[in-house]
Amino acid sequence: MDSLRIADPEGLQFLDQPPPAGGEACAIVPGLRWLRMPLPFALSHINLWLLDDGADALLIDSGIAGDTTRALWQQLFDGPLNGVCISRMLVTHFHPDHLGLADWIVQRFSGRLLMTRTEWLYAAMLSGTASKAGREAVRRFYLAAGFQAEELEALAGQSFGYGLGVPSLTPGYQRLTEGSTVTINGSDWQVLIGRGHSPEHACLWNAERAILIAGDQILPSISPNISVWHDEPDSDPLGDFLETLSRLRQLPEDCLVLPSHGQPFYGLHRRIDALARHHADRLAETMAAAAGGSLTVAGLTRQMFPRAQDPHQRRFAIGEALAHLNHLLTRGQLFRQRRPDGVDHYVCS
Ligand SMILES: [Zn+2]
Repeated sequence: MDSLRIADPEGLQFLDQPPPAGGEACAIVPGLRWLRMPLPFALSHINLWLLDDGADALLIDSGIAGDTTRALWQQLFDGPLNGVCISRMLVTHFHPDHLGLADWIVQRFSGRLLMTRTEWLYAAMLSGTASKAGREAVRRFYLAAGFQAEELEALAGQSFGYGLGVPSLTPGYQRLTEGSTVTINGSDWQVLIGRGHSPEHACLWNAERAILIAGDQILPSISPNISVWHDEPDSDPLGDFLETLSRLRQLPEDCLVLPSHGQPFYGLHRRIDALARHHADRLAETMAAAAGGSLTVAGLTRQMFPRAQDPHQRRFAIGEALAHLNHLLTRGQLFRQRRPDGVDHYVCS
C-alpha cells in the first residue's frame, strides 16, 4: 500500500488521491467510494462514504441541507450513482453537515436511517421550535460567560438555526450501539461510540480490512470542536473526548482512517497523541491565564481564539474555552464563583 501514501511533515501519511469534486464519487478501496459536499462555513467541505452492499448501498452522512448540496446529489443520482439504491443511510452524529439531507435521501429510496439513540434524540430536540424558556437559558449562558449588550444578543440570536441545516428528521430509526455490528456486503463493521465532539458519535471499525470511519471524532488537520453548550453548562466534554481517544488508540496504528473533514490518512496513534497534546497545551494555557487573576469565559475565549469574530465561529470558540475550564473544574484545579452581576469567574484552587 506504500504507493498510495505521501508523507506529511507531522508524520501522518495521507492517501495520495485528490479529493473528489462535487458530483463525483471515487473508489478508494474496493466497494467504498469517497464523495465530498461543500459547506457554507470556514470548514469548507464534508467527506461522505458510500459502501456497496450487493445491489444496494449504505451511505455514511449526507451533507448540509441547501440548494447547492441538493443539486450535487442530483448530479450524482443522474451520473455515477445512477441505478444505485441507497437503502441504508447511516449518520455519525446530529450536526447539520452530517444529518442535513439524510431524511431527503431516506425518502427518495424508501430507505432506513441508522443512528445512535442520543444523536437522534438530540436532533429531534433541536428540530423542535425554540421555546421562550430555551431562549432565556441561552441568554443566561452567555451572560455567565461574560458577554453583554449587542454581543450577547448576537450570540443568542445565532443559537436557533438548526432547522435551516436539518429541515426534516426521519421519524423512526434503527439504533446503533457500542460494539454492535453493521454488516455491509458480507463484511462486518463494528460500531465504536465516541464522545466529546457530540454526545454519542458513531465511528465504524472494520478489523478485517483495517479501516476506521472516524466521522468528526478524529480529524487529520484540525482538532474536532469540543464544546460546552447552554443545555448542559456544567458538562465535561473534554474529559469524554480524551477518554474516547485513549480507547480508539487501542486500534492498530497502520489502519486507514477516513475522517469527515480533510484527507484520508494512516498514522492513527500519531494523530491521537497530537490531539491529546494539543488539549494538554490548552489546559496549561488556561491555568496560566487563571493564575494571572480571576478569569471569565469571555476573557479566555478572546485569548484562545483571537480570530473568531463572527457570532457563528464565536459560539464554537466560547464552547471550546468553557470545555477547558470545565475539565479543570472536574479535576479540582480551578473553582468557579458567580458574581452578583451573573458572570462566572474562575480562580486557581
Ligand atoms: Zn460534527
